[in-house]
Amino acid sequence: MESITHNLTAILIQILCFSYFLYPINVIFTIVFAFFSHFLSDALSKLTYHTPEAMKKDKFWIIWHVIIYSASIAIVIIFFIPFWLAMLAVNLPDIIDWFILRPIQNRKKRKNPGSEWNKKYLFHKIADWIRNNIFFWLPDFTYKKYGVINELIIIGVLSFLICLYV
Ligand SMILES: [Zn+2]
Repeated sequence: MESITHNLTAILIQILCFSYFLYPINVIFTIVFAFFSHFLSDALSKLTYHTPEAMKKDKFWIIWHVIIYSASIAIVIIFFIPFWLAMLAVNLPDIIDWFILRPIQNRKKRKNPGSEWNKKYLFHKIADWIRNNIFFWLPDFTYKKYGVINELIIIGVLSFLICLYV
């Protein structure tokens, strides 16, 4: 999923946890549920247009990403207070994998090109597992441009639910 979808999910999780639980359970549940929602969203991301590589020669890809990244930044700014905790938690798997584990993996690969270290420890293995074992029956729109419709529907539903509470 795009980061806007992760962030909206996290905001909704924080709203629900803070509505139904008292301190400190609400904070703990927000962090835990937001963190693990990342894997669920990523596992479902094959329902959306989500090419693993940047397609910088494709106009559609560029326009879609300009729109979706701008919206994402806007959401972070608008909802930073009081939802920064949930948004931090939901982005942790990406932060840890991309900024900590992958650089370590690259260093290990430089020393030992056959190193399979990354295959075991990347957090996104959890998303891969869910995708392959639970959501294997879902259609794959990873490279289908109309997959953006699914992403927009998910964003619309999440926004609607957030509006009900805010
Ligand atoms: Zn991710």
